[in-house]
Parts: sequence; C-alpha cells; structure tokens
Amino acid sequence: MTVNLLDYDLEGLAAYCERLGEKRYRATQLFRWIHQKGASQFDEMSDLAKSLREKLKTTSEIVPLIVKSQYESADGTIKWLFEVGGGDVIETVFIPEADRGTLCVSSQAGCAVGCRFCSTGHQGFSRNLTAGEIIAQLWFAEHFLRKHLKSTERVISNVVMMGMGEPLQNYAHLVQALRVMLDDHGYGLSRRRVTVSTSGVVPMMDRLGADCPVALAVSLHASNDLLRDNLVPLNKKYPIGELIAACQRYLEFAPRDFITFEYCMLDGVNDTAAHAHELVSLLTGSGRGAQWCKLNLIPFNPFPASGLVRSTQKSIAEFSKIVSESGLITTVRKTRGDDIDAACGQLAGDVKDRTEVMKRMAKQRVIPLVPVGVGQISSFLESAND
Ligand code: SAH
Ligand code: SF4
Repeated sequence: MTVNLLDYDLEGLAAYCERLGEKRYRATQLFRWIHQKGASQFDEMSDLAKSLREKLKTTSEIVPLIVKSQYESADGTIKWLFEVGGGDVIETVFIPEADRGTLCVSSQAGCAVGCRFCSTGHQGFSRNLTAGEIIAQLWFAEHFLRKHLKSTERVISNVVMMGMGEPLQNYAHLVQALRVMLDDHGYGLSRRRVTVSTSGVVPMMDRLGADCPVALAVSLHASNDLLRDNLVPLNKKYPIGELIAACQRYLEFAPRDFITFEYCMLDGVNDTAAHAHELVSLLTGSGRGAQWCKLNLIPFNPFPASGLVRSTQKSIAEFSKIVSESGLITTVRKTRGDDIDAACGQLAGDVKDRTEVMKRMAKQRVIPLVPVGVGQISSFLESAND
C-alpha cells in the first residue's frame, strides 16, 4: 500500500525519508514542493535526485480530494464539495476580503455532537477525516486559487476549522494538519490566523493548549445549562462551568488574549433580554470582567428539519445592545447567501439525500458557478481577526 504524503507533518515526512534510506533534509525539499508549490507528481520535483523520485513513485502518493462541485458567488466566495468515498461529501469555503483570504475547513464527514440548529449535526457522524484529507482542502484551495486569481503570492491568509465536524473529536489528525498549516516550509500561517472552533470538548481544549495553541472559538449558544443541554448535547458531558474554566486555562497558551464565543440566535429559544443578561453574568461574572472574550451573534441559518426559526432583527439588535453595554465586544453577522441555504453542512447534507438535492438544484439552477452563501462562518470573519 502506498503512503499519502499529505498525511505527514514535516517531522513525519523526515522520519519517512529516513525509512527510505534518505537524508532528513530531503523531507524539507519534498514538503516545500508539495505544500508551497502545489506539486502532485514526483517528476515535477526537479531538484530531487532521480533515484529518490523513482523510490517515491513506488512507495508514496499525494492524494488529492475529488471535487464534486464548485460554487462561486459574485463577491468571490467559493465553495467546494469534495467526495471522500463511501458516499460522503465534505465542504470547504473560501471567503476573500480586502485584507485577508479565509478558508473554512472541515474536520469530519458528518458530526456526532448533534446540535439541534446544525445541519451537519442532523446528518449524524460518518467518519473522521484523515490528516491528509484535512490538509488536502487547504492544499487544493491555495493552489487552485493562485491559478484562478493569477496570484504568485499566498492567497489564503487565515484558516478557520468551522466547516463540517467537531475538530476536537478528531484530535490527532487535526493537530497533524495544524502543524502543516503553521510550518514555515508548509503554509507558514501564524497561530493567530488559524482558529479551531469547538462545541466544547473540554479535555481536548487543554490538550490543544499544550500541543498546538492556535486561536480558539467556542460555540456557546446558550446562557444556562438547561438550555445548552438541549441545543448542544455535549453540554451534558461538559457543562458550561467546566467549559468556561477550560477557556480560562486556554488563555494562558492562546496566541490572542481573548476567546471568541459563538452564539446562534434562535427565535424565542435563546434570544430574549433575560438570556442576554444571563449571558453577561455568565461571561463576566466571578470577577472575570469582559475583556477576555469576544461574542459573535450568528443569525440562525434555517433548514427545514430543525424546526427552529431565526431571531428577528429587532431581538438580535436588542440582545446585542444589552451584551455590548456590559462591555463585551460583540459582532453580529450580516446574513449572506440566504438565497441558496448554503450554511456549512447544508449543501453536503443535501448531497446525501439525492431526491432532495435534485429538487434543490432545480430550484437553484446549480451550474458549476453560482452564488453561494456561507452560513456559519461569516460572523467570525467580521470580528477582529487580523
Ligand atoms: N463543530 C464545531 C465547528 C463547526 S460548526 C463547532 O460547533 O464549533 C461552526 C459554527 O457554525 C459553530 O459555531 C456552529 O454552532 C455554527 N452553526 C452550525 N449550524 C448553524 C446554523 N444553521 N446557523 C448558524 N450557525 C450555525
Ligand atoms: Fe457538530 Fe459543530 Fe454542528 Fe454541533 S455545530 S453538530 S459540534 S458541526
């Protein structure tokens, strides 16, 4: 069986080269060819000895993801659906902005957490992505975009692990892929520009702080345990008190001096003035103050099976006013892409359901390039994420 070289961080590739009887520094050359130049064929790697290239051809591969479809919006946002075998489809979204290019990356096919407001959660869990499949999303997008935008410079400056899946439930592969993102011989992204979003897998938050402290976003969505138990079932295992304590511990290692909290606004469920006041005491209580966190209010991106409704603009504005006045730095996401219901997880969810996707395609006239929306990540992009 051949080895997928995308599965390796630089250290792993060096060990692999040694196993092939090669010097470790060869790994740096190979790694740069793959990640910095986007090479997928060993014959492209002109400064590697022919004998090494031949050895690599018989032992290894650079395995790309299979593009199922690509959608491009007028504002330059691009969404890809990738086939990862067994009928599973994952998605990756690129969002260009004036001062940065952000890629939203998936960590699993489906998700086991099962949040009520999340389309991926409703699909259930299929499997963990390998490190190679996680990094292949960045590898593909970066090199595709350089060609597409005719850029000789790096196009993707930020990565957010906010696509499908719970990254901290695929910990080993996540960290392996993060190391490639951060490596100067790989994508050279700073820790501040790589964000892991989690529904709150407390022990793994501590491990991430120790192993690979990147920026952290926590999906809170509720101001008390009763409500959060209902919206984010993982809360029954790691309740809010433990989650906040883990966030405070993470701050010691974090590349930024704050944690971002995401809060999906659901009509009549978590969006009243009483919830806003409760959220303020939760985040700023026990003498913590308001400076250690940022709050992202995300208008719910509806999908039929959820039975939930997006909060009205009025309640979002009132909620936002209360939390802001307490000193919490708060952003509200502008809604984008409602026209095609393309929150992360939603399109791929449909692909599994063939009848539904046919109906949807007919409705939306999905052709290779059509407008796309990014439900759950654009909120984050509006927060100060330099
Ligand atoms: N599993 C991780 C990362 C992926 S989800 C997590 O939960 O944090 C990324 C963000 O999108 C999370 O904050 C999630 O709660 C939010 N989200 C999921 N479905 C959504 C929807 N339908 N509308 C708005 N935000 C949603
Ligand atoms: Fe999983 Fe995140 Fe969706 Fe919850 S919000 S089901 S953790 S992907």
